[in-house]
Amino acid sequence: MKKILSKIGLVFALLIMVVSLGACSQSSSGAKRDVLKDDKQSNTITWGVKADTKLFGLMDVKDNRIKGFEVDLAKAMTKQILGKNGKARFIQVTSQTRMPLLANGNIDAIMATMTITPERAKQVDFTRSYFDAGQAILVKNGSPIKNVKGLNHKGAVVLGVVGSNSVQNIKKFAPKARVLQLSDYSQALTALKSGQGDALTTDNGILYGMSIENPGYSVVGGTFTKEPYGIATAKGQKPLHNAMNNALTKVENSGQYNKLIYKWFHNVRGFDMKGAER
Ligand code: GLU
Repeated sequence: MKKILSKIGLVFALLIMVVSLGACSQSSSGAKRDVLKDDKQSNTITWGVKADTKLFGLMDVKDNRIKGFEVDLAKAMTKQILGKNGKARFIQVTSQTRMPLLANGNIDAIMATMTITPERAKQVDFTRSYFDAGQAILVKNGSPIKNVKGLNHKGAVVLGVVGSNSVQNIKKFAPKARVLQLSDYSQALTALKSGQGDALTTDNGILYGMSIENPGYSVVGGTFTKEPYGIATAKGQKPLHNAMNNALTKVENSGQYNKLIYKWFHNVRGFDMKGAER
């Protein structure tokens, strides 16, 4: 009898362990955590932003702060969601690391030049678009390549970044070219400048940022895709997702959005200011 009782006890203990382990893994994966509720409690939203992308999110080595349109928009949206004392915390992401960092709960949201695509929307929830970019190419001034078609020959090398959809898109528009993928945009630009490729491809806004710093390089041929940027949150975080969409509307309606567009883009040659305003 004693033996039976202790066996039942053991089975019961094991059952409790299994159930509690299951609960733990659920909360650590973020499935059951209400991120908006936690953010309200800590009065902080943790954003994943680029730190290698001038105009959108670029690390300023002078004060170790990331600066750009997306950083400012994230700050404005944080205040809409948490109130005027709400804090925005920024974590650097690259095109490759942004989705895993969100999935692991290291960041609450991605605002990092990320195009809303049906593929990505299977893994994350996107807000409506907060910026409409398009893919283009950057070449050295005087280059014989005048547009994406000029890259469609054997021997052409196009530079891009791992984890961006630009490296996939370019295969459709210049299928004969070889695509060399670097780990981030500063490395891709260094590769272009050292002659490792004929052109660098990504969104026009990002390329404009590079050409400001490097006047010997220009964006040519116009855009050949549509790249609407969305803010990504983890699946199952409806309250945060809704709060993001509402905050975006408020920032747009208050005129703050247009002020930020002006601040970051008004003296960018070739940038369509009117087209970007909301
Ligand atoms: N918007 C494109 C993308 O989401 C290119 C920019 C980037 O690498 O973030 O992949």
